[in-house]
Amino acid sequence: CGIFAYLNHLTPKTRKEVLDFLVNGLKRLEYRGYDSAGIAVDSADGRNVSIIKKNGKVQALQDEIYSREADLAFEATADCHVGIAHTRWATHGTPSERNAHPQRSDDDNTFCLVHNGIITNYKDIKLFLTKKGHTFESETDTEIIAKLMMHIYKKNPNDTFQEIVEQCIQQLEGAFALCIKSKLFPGECVATRRGSPLLVAIKTKTRLATDHIPILYGKDFRPHGGTAAETLTAASLMPRTPSTAEFQPMEEDKQV
Ligand code: GLU
Repeated sequence: CGIFAYLNHLTPKTRKEVLDFLVNGLKRLEYRGYDSAGIAVDSADGRNVSIIKKNGKVQALQDEIYSREADLAFEATADCHVGIAHTRWATHGTPSERNAHPQRSDDDNTFCLVHNGIITNYKDIKLFLTKKGHTFESETDTEIIAKLMMHIYKKNPNDTFQEIVEQCIQQLEGAFALCIKSKLFPGECVATRRGSPLLVAIKTKTRLATDHIPILYGKDFRPHGGTAAETLTAASLMPRTPSTAEFQPMEEDKQV
């Protein structure tokens, strides 16, 4: 698939500009997957996340976005700082709007994310989360990631966005590049990868506060652009041993 995200704190764009940017990004990546497409963007106050998904090509998503822009409630002129987008090549679950990304943690879109790759231990994690009371709305392997983040957040509500993502990906096996948004962390976006490719482009003449872009990366990650290493907050994560077949519940869960 193709994933595309946008983050800008210094010169906020309107929601419409960000949506156009995301759709154009997806069009460039469409050769990587074209069975469905979707985006998530901040609401005007950054405290809510809107998701728009469409079965079919990116053009169908664009038409849907344009049709909704006429609606004032969509706040097309409001400031927007973060957006994530996806064009899917289905591996788990048929091509459909429900299985399109962004996938989410709950009806409130508390965590939503786009994913390239395959989570090979998703069935174990799904079973674990189902026993904890989570219900699933898609057939994707991806949805378990959003719901696992929610599970981790509820256990440690004071953790930062980056800490939640770190704990989550320690449990994942397989390949992934992820871009994640959360209404709990307005204006933030976390990107992470293991095995799947992810390119981070930074406008180098703009001074970026490092805490705006937490990038978690595997050992083979190479930021592009000379100053990227200075401007990124980077946490090096050791990948989990891929040969471990069984899902290991987090420490506290073992006692429950
Ligand atoms: N495995 C995920 C899915 O089937 C992501 C596929 C992709 O990379 O597009 O939804």
